[in-house]
Amino acid sequence: VIEVVRIGQRLVRDDRVTTHVALVSRGFGAERIYMTEINPEIKDTIGKINNTWGGNFEIEYIEKWKPVVKKKKEEGFKIVHLSMYGENINNAQEKIRNEENLLIVVGAEKVPREIYELADYNVGVGSQPHSEISALAILLDRIQNGKQFEKEFPNAKRKIIPTKNGKNVQVKETRD
Ligand code: SAM
Repeated sequence: VIEVVRIGQRLVRDDRVTTHVALVSRGFGAERIYMTEINPEIKDTIGKINNTWGGNFEIEYIEKWKPVVKKKKEEGFKIVHLSMYGENINNAQEKIRNEENLLIVVGAEKVPREIYELADYNVGVGSQPHSEISALAILLDRIQNGKQFEKEFPNAKRKIIPTKNGKNVQVKETRD
């Protein structure tokens, strides 16, 4: 199981980025994201996407990130904190791939010092500042070796049949 927690989101400014963090989590095989209820429309957006494109990806609103991280640790999840200061992903990926349950922590602005200590792995996708969206996508891809793109999303109303030219979308008949 892979889950994601978004910490330290800035009001309004980070709305679109947080939506994309949620979309990447869903599209790249995570099962759930924890985030503060700062932008309630994200739940709506993801709900509509699940309805059309399938799967059971969940958004769970939280007040504070710390109790979630602590609870997940108690449940046996390993905590992977994405930070440009962390261990190079090229060295960490092998170890992380062998873990069964992961909670991936992504920041927004400056993250609290404590998360570095709570994390089992502090991982840098390179040592240059870039984006939580790209860092998350690359980590999810590295730990699943691309397998996430073969995953079926159950109960989809629409399913894309990959084609070299144009668009091929299978539309499932519904009775409602
Ligand atoms: N300046 C902030 C700090 O020092 O904590 C980081 C801001 S960055 C825009 C927001 C988030 O993107 C970070 O918390 C981290 O999760 C992720 N991120 C950015 N660059 C990264 C990198 N090279 N490797 C891993 N994560 C990265």
